[in-house]
This record gives sequence, structure tokens and C-alpha cells, in this order.
Amino acid sequence: MKKDIATPTRTQEILKKFGFRFKKSLGQNFLIDPNILANIVEAAGVREDTGVIEIGPGIGALTEQSAKQAKNVLAFEIDQRLLPILKETMEPYPHVKVVNEDVLKTDLHRYISDYFQPGQDLAVVANLPYYVTTPILMKLLEEKLPVRVMVVMMQTEVAERIAASPGSKAYGSLSIAAQYYARAETVFHVPRTVFMPQPNVDSAILRLTRRDAPPVNVTDEELFFKIVRGSFVQRRKTLLNNLSKLFEDTLTKQETAEKLQEIGIDGTRRAESLTMKEFAALTGAFHRYTG
Ligand code: SAM
Repeated sequence: MKKDIATPTRTQEILKKFGFRFKKSLGQNFLIDPNILANIVEAAGVREDTGVIEIGPGIGALTEQSAKQAKNVLAFEIDQRLLPILKETMEPYPHVKVVNEDVLKTDLHRYISDYFQPGQDLAVVANLPYYVTTPILMKLLEEKLPVRVMVVMMQTEVAERIAASPGSKAYGSLSIAAQYYARAETVFHVPRTVFMPQPNVDSAILRLTRRDAPPVNVTDEELFFKIVRGSFVQRRKTLLNNLSKLFEDTLTKQETAEKLQEIGIDGTRRAESLTMKEFAALTGAFHRYTG
């Protein structure tokens, strides 16, 4: 039996054999601790019948741990140089399919329906490249993929922002966007020492459990997210200032202030103190004033 891919010695051997050089621009920091990887897979509740979607398999360290537990694995890797490596490292795992595509440009719904069974339990398990963590996550959430859970590694600060509650410094439009679609929690922290090469940030594992329905009723999702983003444009400014800027083409500042009064939200508050429910109320109040 070969050692796990993620053991430091096996990883070194593989990299040396293929003469692989890390590309910083692709966020290539590979994990070299099989226990941590197994814990990530466990945090996703991967079972015998689960289909796993992975973004950025690298040389297959996490893919291997998923493959040991799951029914099948579909992995998207942008870097063509990793394909011959994955072909060899994934040889013992014929239920792993590697697709050489940029996940941001991929039609994920099509791949999911082609590769997995209808109604199959699906989980995203990934160690995300730092430089595109947020766009990848937002794509996965906004496209409303039929996945039960996403367990993803990212920079600690980003995980904190996603899981943040109103009133905290980390709370912002990203927290609301993610929590609209999923329940978010940090599962555990990962030190930078278990990566090759070591990144200059610490990482955390975030679990996003998809909600069956959004936690608030929103009359118009597009307007809701526009208001959320607009309210945080200048964090230190009051809600009234940010919103009157956002609606300056259709409403006077006085009219914006009146709308806030009507729904009982104090315009001197800052966006970071508003709950998702209050943003939903704002969406209702400003609904008529958008073209
Ligand atoms: N899963 C491996 C591990 O845990 O050791 C590697 C993780 S590494 C942080 C991120 C991986 O994502 C790299 O293999 C990189 O080439 C790949 N990647 C970067 N951008 C990508 C994109 N847009 N689409 C798909 N894969 C991408």
C-alpha cells in the first residue's frame, strides 16, 4: 500500500518525479497533513452514497481522502500541468473524474446532472485557491446548486467575514450574501505550517449548509443585494447617507429618510448593525423607487 498523497514524503516524491513548480498566481498551496484532510471530509458528512465536488484538486491530496469515503468525486482543476500527475495519483480511484476547467467558467449544473444520480447526496469539499475564494463561493451559492453542504478551506479572515453576525467588525455584505443561501460556521482552524509552500496567512474550514428557503422573505432579490451592497459602500457612514446616495436618481434625501422612518429604522445607524430581516424590510420599502 502506498502512503497517502498528503504525507510530506509522498508529496515531495510526486512533485520531484514530475518536476512540478508551484504557481503562486493559481493559489497553489498544497496540504501535507492527511489527518486534517480526513477531518475536512468528515466535517462534510460524506457517506457511501455521497457525490463530492472538488475545486482545485492539485495533486489529489484532498481528492484521495474524499474518494475513500464517497461514491464518486468530480474535481475541477484549472492547471493543465496537474493532469498527468492526477492521472497517476488517482489511478487507484476510478470513481474520481477530473475536469480541466476554470470552475468560474464552468456550467456546473450540466456537469452535476451528467455525472451524479438525480437526487444523490452532494457535497462540495475543497481547499480553495486564496485569490478567488469569494467569487468561487458566490458562484456556488448563487447558482443554487443542489448540494447539501460545502466544506471549504479559506483564509481565516474571509471565513470570519462570511460567518459574522450583525454588530461585529467582520459583518458585511459578504456575510449577508452567504447567509441568505446557507447557514455558515467555522469548523476548525488550520495552521500555515501544514501547507507546501507555506502561505503567509492562516486558514479556517468553513461549513456552509444550504438552506431549504431563505431566512427572510424578499420581494426582489436583486434589489435586496443592491441595498445590502449600497449600505456598506462606506462602512463608517450612516445608513441614511449610504442609501440616499444609492437612490439619488429617484429620491431626495428627505424622501429616503421618510422611507426609513416608515419602517422604523433609525437612519443614523450604520449598516453593520442591521439584521438580514431589516435589510429585507428596506427592500420592501424601496421597492417602488427603482427603475
Ligand atoms: N486540493 C489541493 C490540496 O488541498 O492540497 C490543492 C489546493 S490549492 C489551495 C488550490 C488548487 O486550485 C490548485 O491546484 C490550483 O491550480 C486550483 N485552481 C486555482 N484556480 C482555479 C480555478 N479557477 N478553477 C479550478 N481550479 C483552480
